[in-house]
Amino acid sequence: MTSTFTIELLPARHGDALWIEYGDPRRPHRILVDGGPRSTVTRTAIEGLVAERGSDVELLVVSHIDADHITGVLGLLENRAIGLRPREVWFNGWEHLPADLLGAKQGERLGAAIVARGLPWNTDFAGTAVVLPDDGPLPVVDLPGGMRLTLLSPTRRALADLRPVWKKEVEKAGLVPGAAAEEERARQPDLLGAGALDPEALAGEAFEEDGSAANGSSIAFLAEFDGRSLLLTGDAHAGVLADGLRRLAAERGVATVPVDAFKLPHHGSRHNLSAELLDLVDCRRFLFSTSGHVFGHPDRVTVSRIVTSRDDTVLECNYRSEFTEPWESARMRRRFRYDIRFPDRPEPWLLAAL
Ligand SMILES: [Zn+2]
Repeated sequence: MTSTFTIELLPARHGDALWIEYGDPRRPHRILVDGGPRSTVTRTAIEGLVAERGSDVELLVVSHIDADHITGVLGLLENRAIGLRPREVWFNGWEHLPADLLGAKQGERLGAAIVARGLPWNTDFAGTAVVLPDDGPLPVVDLPGGMRLTLLSPTRRALADLRPVWKKEVEKAGLVPGAAAEEERARQPDLLGAGALDPEALAGEAFEEDGSAANGSSIAFLAEFDGRSLLLTGDAHAGVLADGLRRLAAERGVATVPVDAFKLPHHGSRHNLSAELLDLVDCRRFLFSTSGHVFGHPDRVTVSRIVTSRDDTVLECNYRSEFTEPWESARMRRRFRYDIRFPDRPEPWLLAAL
């Protein structure tokens, strides 16, 4: 039997909704990572997958509490008619943070929905937080069918940093979607800068770490199946990911971690992909889940860091946008020896086989 291992970047606008299948292609196992923002297109895509391919999912991961990841999951779990049946849910909810604040509306709603559905919650971590230990081996979880997951983020520190902003973040998630955009735009004044792309200059721009505590609390992991590997990073911080990958490289006695495909953290934000992080992965294939809507992702700086750091890369994007299409230039592809791929279907729905 030739096994399957695929990831689908579903149409999730500026967010993530990732559908993974592995195992026997006739009866694959499934993992769902995030559910995108509140969006009819995303909901229809996930509902269609559940109806056509099956409602049993080995693992549902809610990487973190931002609206573009959590809101679609809320809809899925609160609407029993959809019938999604995860065997396990990974989600760091309010009860996994020291509770000295009130609020956390969406987090509480998701927690309530998980409990109401009687779903196993973080049981792979004995019901506590999905988090890296400060030292010692990285947590490894084996899923049915031979999938191995190695946790790379978050750290306890990152979860603790989330505590004071939890209330603010979930309000933002449900009630004030524009606020995040304003903040992000303010941080990225050069985003829409006119003029020709100059990847060498852009790649040399200073790296500034993402300051969002919610992003920093992202669950990130390496998924390995049948000799192939996929790095899933939520909106994790580059520094946390780099530390996790360095620990993994040390555990395995290698200088860099071989990765067959790398889903960029934070939709390709320049604040989440450092040269240090890139240097830790031996990878030629990079996945971008974003429409460019709201935040203007992926950043030109991120793509520049990738294409100038290695040859023969493939960039795979679920959306054609003003932020991805310029990279299709034949001159640019020749010069920096990369290729770019968009969905081969009308919808912004990318299927990548590992
Ligand atoms: Zn996001």
